[in-house]
Amino acid sequence: MLKIGCHLSSSQGYLAMGKDAVNIDANTFAFFTRNPRGGSAKAINELDVARFLEFANKYTISPLVAHSPYTLNPCSAKPDLREFARNTMADDLCRLEYTPGNFYNFHPGSHTGQGEETGILQCAEMLNSIITDEQTTTILIETMAGKGSEIGKNFTQIAKIISMVEKREKVGVCLDTCHIWDGGYDIVNDLDGVLTEFDKTIGISKLRAVHLNDSLNECGAHKDRHAKIGEGKIGKEALIRVINHESLYSLPFILETPNDEDGYRKEIAMLREAYKY
Ligand code: FE
Ligand code: FE
Ligand code: ZN
Repeated sequence: MLKIGCHLSSSQGYLAMGKDAVNIDANTFAFFTRNPRGGSAKAINELDVARFLEFANKYTISPLVAHSPYTLNPCSAKPDLREFARNTMADDLCRLEYTPGNFYNFHPGSHTGQGEETGILQCAEMLNSIITDEQTTTILIETMAGKGSEIGKNFTQIAKIISMVEKREKVGVCLDTCHIWDGGYDIVNDLDGVLTEFDKTIGISKLRAVHLNDSLNECGAHKDRHAKIGEGKIGKEALIRVINHESLYSLPFILETPNDEDGYRKEIAMLREAYKY
């Protein structure tokens, strides 16, 4: 069965997200661990989590793909911003242990003029300072579009970050289709070639989740503007090939398309219909 969902609002807690997922026929979902601007997170409500876990088990909702606040910058030139990113992510990892064995997706950040080698090193150091032996969450580095001084804009940079992480088994990759397309990977004409390159540089076993998005821009534009499935330059056919690819079909797919609830329900239904497994 296709694992597909979208970002859900966490403001009403975990059980509410589970019910929202069922409402749109999603069986996996993403959510921001706190206000995307950072800031303090709401206390975990253990009763809500317990009810959610029971509900998720009943409706086979799995995995959760939590997303860190996208304003965090683990490789900022400013030390206080790097520290803020590290402390926030460390706190998120503690909180995610209430729902063990899921994913925590983050953006590797922007080097803000320090150079990509420094950015890569600072990102890896941050991971080394927060990953524990006890954690059951796998941290996912998201592939980025290469806007401004973003790192993670190609597979080589992500492979370098992972190679510097000590507890590498706790780290994987989330492939964002809009971002890699904007980053210059032609998944429309050569999906096989792109995934072969991913396998050679990072290793396909590291690929644990997909953000399924169309893109408003051309391949290589380095822009990062998401579109609804079939309303962008990647197109519906190419994204249907993504969910059906032999290296991808069993992964969780998260829609980050500009939709309301009804729009997500329709995209999910269309993709379930197009799924061949
Ligand atoms: Fe993201
Ligand atoms: Fe994404
Ligand atoms: Zn994006």
